Amino acid sequence: MTDRGITTPSQPEDEYFVKEDAEKLRRIALQVKRETAAAELKRLRDLHYMHCPKCGLRMNEVKYGPVGVDVCFACNGIYLDQGELEQLQIVRHPVMAAILNWFKEETQHPVK
Ligand SMILES: [Zn+2]
Repeated sequence: MTDRGITTPSQPEDEYFVKEDAEKLRRIALQVKRETAAAELKRLRDLHYMHCPKCGLRMNEVKYGPVGVDVCFACNGIYLDQGELEQLQIVRHPVMAAILNWFKEETQHPVK
């Protein structure tokens, strides 16, 4: 060990322990990084969940047939979660079905 507290391997066994300590510190750093990212995602979700993307005010879920539609009563915006549009009767209209099929193609072959 040097006077600055940095270990310098002098033998294979010392080198093994230095590498093992470095790997342990690397794993801890990665875990801290993941936890920070997860905490930030949770913070953003808590901040924006069920808030209108247009005006930012709180939305309410309203039952419309089999679907729970998210409605903003402040700006009259109506929002659907993934898959809910297909559950509504509106999809049976040929024009809407064609549009949805086009989007399905796009999601199956995303632009790279
Ligand atoms: Zn709104």
